[in-house]
Amino acid sequence: MSRLVMKFGGTSVADLDRIRNVALHVKRERDSGHEVAVVVSAMSGKTNELVAWVKDASALYDPREYDAVVASGEQVTAGLLAIALQRLGLAARSWQGWQVPVQTSDAHGVARIEAIEASGIEEGFRRGEVAVVAGFQGVHAGTGRIATLGRGGSDTSAVAVAAAIRADRCDIYTDVDGVYTTDPRVVPKARRLERIAFEEMLEMASLGAKVLQVRSVELAMVHGVPTFVRSSFDDPAAPRPGTLICGEEDIVESQVVTGIAFSRDEAQVTLRRLKDAPGIAASVFIPLAEAGINVDMIIQVASGDNRHTDMTFTTTTADFERACALLTDKKAAIGFETLEGSTDVVKVSAIGVGMRSHAGVAAQAFQALSDKGINIRAITTSEIKFSVLIDAAYTELAVRTLHTLYGLDRVAA
Ligand code: ASP
Ligand code: MG
Repeated sequence: MSRLVMKFGGTSVADLDRIRNVALHVKRERDSGHEVAVVVSAMSGKTNELVAWVKDASALYDPREYDAVVASGEQVTAGLLAIALQRLGLAARSWQGWQVPVQTSDAHGVARIEAIEASGIEEGFRRGEVAVVAGFQGVHAGTGRIATLGRGGSDTSAVAVAAAIRADRCDIYTDVDGVYTTDPRVVPKARRLERIAFEEMLEMASLGAKVLQVRSVELAMVHGVPTFVRSSFDDPAAPRPGTLICGEEDIVESQVVTGIAFSRDEAQVTLRRLKDAPGIAASVFIPLAEAGINVDMIIQVASGDNRHTDMTFTTTTADFERACALLTDKKAAIGFETLEGSTDVVKVSAIGVGMRSHAGVAAQAFQALSDKGINIRAITTSEIKFSVLIDAAYTELAVRTLHTLYGLDRVAA
């Protein structure tokens, strides 16, 4: 018998009607003979509400108690879905993270799954039960405390459960019908992809596409779990397949560029006239690292006079103020003249495994952007992607320009 994990996100379980609709999707798969583990999110908006309550209770909250509170949203939907399934005549049982158990690290609020003991769920399968697992949560084995996986973490729960029960596939049901070449709200001509490679999806998610939690794609890639992104808003009796995330070897016709991602959560910091001497990069980036500030793009200007150089880097908007304050504090020790910063920047990236075997892909983009009068502030490239940092005001224009340039626009049928 084949096994399936079906994951439903917040909008798919937003109220009891939506949960009844989910039950119909699950019934369809049970009726066609699959053993099914369902992983659910909290009702949409619920986790935000719980997080706000915690912060309201105390700005300096205990992260273990944060987890005790925010994990509750998924407990509710798991129980409700089990009831809805039973009402349709299916055997079903809910499982909280600690009951499975889903063992995690002790990094409360951003815990990682370390192991899943699948035997309880598998015994349930033998009794004919659908397992309804609360996503986003697990338990730290050492302390026995509930831990959560970071926002969007139920995607990761789903893929991890799929790996643990050796599921044939993992279906991630959401409010869109698949993965698109870019955000359709920005580019109406964006196309749904039939397939996308794990590595490409990983880059898309890391570079700003919000369909899946990054960690879930990593896990799917490591364990080779074929994962579909598909819509829970389809008629349960006539669902469409969605987008398959799979190995590169399973993609027949691939484009050079598969998708365009963008992230507005970027800030730029530039240090002018740094001493040009060994150790200068370390003197800037070690204090940032020690403060837990993540740095993304880094550009050091090659010095002309052998005495001074400029250094630019990007970080998240949340860390921007802290990074500026910290460096300003260390101005004398590091030895720079001025610090300039901006949060009005956006990172636009093009992704495709085809870039490995094609030269000049990024160069075409630089030309196309300049033709539109868009100035590039910083560039990074790697094997299957490149990114440009530009003024936020040009986001839409840049994304649309690259989307057209690489032949991704949907042609009218
Ligand atoms: N409910 C959690 C969140 O909103 C986890 C998830 O939905 O994936 O982040
Ligand atoms: Mg999500």
